[in-house]
Amino acid sequence: MTQSFQVGDLEVKGFSDGILKTSIDFVVGMDRAQSEGLVGGTDNGALFIPVNNFLFEKDGKIIMIDAGAGNTMQPTLGKLPGNLRAAGIDPSAIDYIVITHIHPDHANGLVDDAGAAIYPNAEILVHAQEFDFWMAESDGATPVKVRNTRARNRINMKPYMERVRRMRDGDEVLGCTPMLAPGHSPGHTVWRIGTGRKAFVAWGDLVHFSAIQISHPQTAVTYDLDPDMARQSRLRMLDMVANEKLAVAGAHVNEPGFGYLSRKGSGYSFEPAA
Ligand SMILES: [Zn+2]
Repeated sequence: MTQSFQVGDLEVKGFSDGILKTSIDFVVGMDRAQSEGLVGGTDNGALFIPVNNFLFEKDGKIIMIDAGAGNTMQPTLGKLPGNLRAAGIDPSAIDYIVITHIHPDHANGLVDDAGAAIYPNAEILVHAQEFDFWMAESDGATPVKVRNTRARNRINMKPYMERVRRMRDGDEVLGCTPMLAPGHSPGHTVWRIGTGRKAFVAWGDLVHFSAIQISHPQTAVTYDLDPDMARQSRLRMLDMVANEKLAVAGAHVNEPGFGYLSRKGSGYSFEPAA
């Protein structure tokens, strides 16, 4: 069943791409006993996190946030197109895809196994800083992780190249405004969507392990290309979200993936939307 929440005049629906198996070993700067305790224990460190996508309509257009992993990562992922169809939404009906960052679990699902667009009519909204970094040429000094993701991102973006809108902070399309929150990736973006206080943020991977990083926002993960910068972005953005009482749609926040932050101790707690 599709879950939805209301933010002002927007009805935001959550669509799962599936479950990503990861590891508590990827937590940086917290001892193992504490991180195990926060997630309620693991079997040999295995941690299972959701890959959430969101969709809403505005002015007769259908806008989706991120595109899932496709068939490229784990068999438990790549469920997004099927879940859209099950809800009566043909992927060809999607007009815009807002991208938080161009990592495999958010962008590899843009294309099918043959490299054809799964969303043939969608325009991509992405921060220029993120797009330019991943579309740049690699050289001998480029870390392997970056080189591989760049190579894959050429495949992801190829059928969309004529309809990519490179945006910067302050730009707006249908109420969607990017706010640079770098660190996890160089142009990682928190999108503010809606009007005034009747807005929500799609915060991408600002928080990767929600059971740990919302209550302990100083804690980074090895997925962050620059963990210190990611930490600063997280602290700054969580503060803003809590101050403004904005609703949150989190790419890897445990079910239902959306809700509100409140301050608790030196961190925050997450109240799921009803
Ligand atoms: Zn992610």
